[in-house]
Amino acid sequence: MSAPDLDATRARYAHERARRLHPGGTNQYQYAEGRLSSLDDDTFAPPPAARASCDEELDVLVIGAGLGGLQLGAALRQQHIDNFRILDIAADFGGTWYWNRYPGLRCDVESYIYLPFLEQTGYMPSERYVRGCEIFAYCQLLGRHFKLYERAFLQTRVTAMRWHQDSARWLVSTDRGDTFRARFVTTQSGIFNRPQLPGIEGIETFKGKIFHSARWDYRYTGGDTFGALDKLADQQVGLLGTGTTALQVVPEVAKCAKHLFVFQRTPTAVGVRDNGPTDAAWFASLPTGWQRQREVSFNQLANGERADCGLDDGWARFFRRLIDAVEAVPEVERTPAAIGLAQELADYAYNDTVRARVDVEVKDPRTAALLKAYYRTLCKRPGFSDDYLPAFNRPNVSLVDVSEGVERITEDGLLVQGQKYPLDCLILCTGFALGTQWTHQAGYDVIGRGARRLSEKWATGLVTYHGLFSHGFPNLFFMGLTQTGTTINVPHMLREQIEHLTYIVRRCLDEGLSSVEATEAAEQDWQSQIASVNELRRPFQEACTPGYFNAEGDAQDRRSAIGSGIYFPSTTFFDMWARWRAQGNFAGLSVT
Ligand code: NDP
Repeated sequence: MSAPDLDATRARYAHERARRLHPGGTNQYQYAEGRLSSLDDDTFAPPPAARASCDEELDVLVIGAGLGGLQLGAALRQQHIDNFRILDIAADFGGTWYWNRYPGLRCDVESYIYLPFLEQTGYMPSERYVRGCEIFAYCQLLGRHFKLYERAFLQTRVTAMRWHQDSARWLVSTDRGDTFRARFVTTQSGIFNRPQLPGIEGIETFKGKIFHSARWDYRYTGGDTFGALDKLADQQVGLLGTGTTALQVVPEVAKCAKHLFVFQRTPTAVGVRDNGPTDAAWFASLPTGWQRQREVSFNQLANGERADCGLDDGWARFFRRLIDAVEAVPEVERTPAAIGLAQELADYAYNDTVRARVDVEVKDPRTAALLKAYYRTLCKRPGFSDDYLPAFNRPNVSLVDVSEGVERITEDGLLVQGQKYPLDCLILCTGFALGTQWTHQAGYDVIGRGARRLSEKWATGLVTYHGLFSHGFPNLFFMGLTQTGTTINVPHMLREQIEHLTYIVRRCLDEGLSSVEATEAAEQDWQSQIASVNELRRPFQEACTPGYFNAEGDAQDRRSAIGSGIYFPSTTFFDMWARWRAQGNFAGLSVT
């Protein structure tokens, strides 16, 4: 393939970005609140059975029972810190894997590094990229293995949280009438916990069936996560959104619906999936410690470091291309600008191969042209699928270009540039609330020392020390995408956060320390470091097509956790934390 024409490619990407910029930025979206609140209903569990409310004194309260809460519960067990509770709104463990059960769901990160504790549980994932239902079942297995069910209150929502200075406790209330007095609280409310709805006029007037991908209604569609959605056989189905969720949903709905209209604003770049069953002999031959080694190597690759890990999937191949390109620049010439240019050219060449694949897979040239992504690979979460593109060759599937916007949702369909698309059912694959304030995403506010509200402190963005701590909020650990070292393989990032916070909790309990809190100076220093990384990243972000990675094209909108800065190199970050712990003096924290 010939070398890409840099100027022409840049111009094309800028043109496609400009067409999609929405004046409302992140504010264009709406959420399952008020008149749309039923779109957030749990479609998988009946309303909770009554239970007695409880009043408990705890060492640790864990908010969130996804892979963060599960791994933390396991770590607390391993540390013999057994006086803890885990709370979640969902009726089971799993977090995102509880809520997302749509047909075709799989994890897009290798299961060998995504599923934690494989060596401890002895579990062998059935495939390289396992189905969501297998991950959900594995979360339940972890709940049993580490005896976490007995410490969990499920279908329980935090309603208030306040620091009580005299007792050095967090007072936490729930919608089940509970009161917890906790020495430490950790929050991992999730990043994909709140369905995001399109900001299209008339959504509430639609009289057909409407639901979000993370609240799939199998009573309506029939079938299950394996497909066979038999009740769609006589249905005209509309699917709005073409992110990595849609990549998995479309092939299954396409097989079953009378007709499927896929409404696309921006195409996702679709790389090769190449899934397959796990080779049991290979799996059995892996040496002790292999999982940690593999996840660390994967993260090194994602951070531009050469790592020999036997990993050869779509992610690894993409990152190796960038590394090769940088290494091809003579060492003496490797300025930041030269490195940036080498990566940009390698990225364009990669994009060309991804676009060429569309022509091979999709028969209709007009549809193929619409399915080609024109933006830098990491502007959006790249996709990997071997059955998404061919789904558009089916006679019952139509791709509708809505890059100029959907006019409105009417009572019986969608109106796009004057043309009506009558629908029985509308499936929203429109993502999650990732651009709003942390307190909106979490669903509760926090009142810290001196009655300071977190929603006020973080009104225009997170202000943390190492992501985990915030001045004025003692003994509270913020897990997740919080100005921390971020990994593509999210459970890995959570595990690093857990190792750090359990070290601190263990020492506080052992040494009788009643509170730890970030100092203002440490927090300010961390904000400067985060700001310089944000500044370095700004030109890339500003050139990206709109999406949740760049606050829908307004890279200056920093109010969300992602907008506040998630690009500090995570290999460096985790090394820094390891040194911090080895130093042992709680640097940057004031201790009582
Ligand atoms: P995304 O936020 O990635 O995509 C939302 C989609 O909805 C986009 O295509 C967006 O278009 C579209 N959309 C929103 N509003 C409108 C509108 N008004 N008109 C037309 N289109 C609209 O959500 P996903 O659920 O696909 O993915 C969310 C994240 O979940 C991923 O980024 C990934 O991190 C994670 N995920 C992980 C998986 C895994 O295997 N580990 C699998 C699936 C998801 P536009 O792009 O133009 O904004």
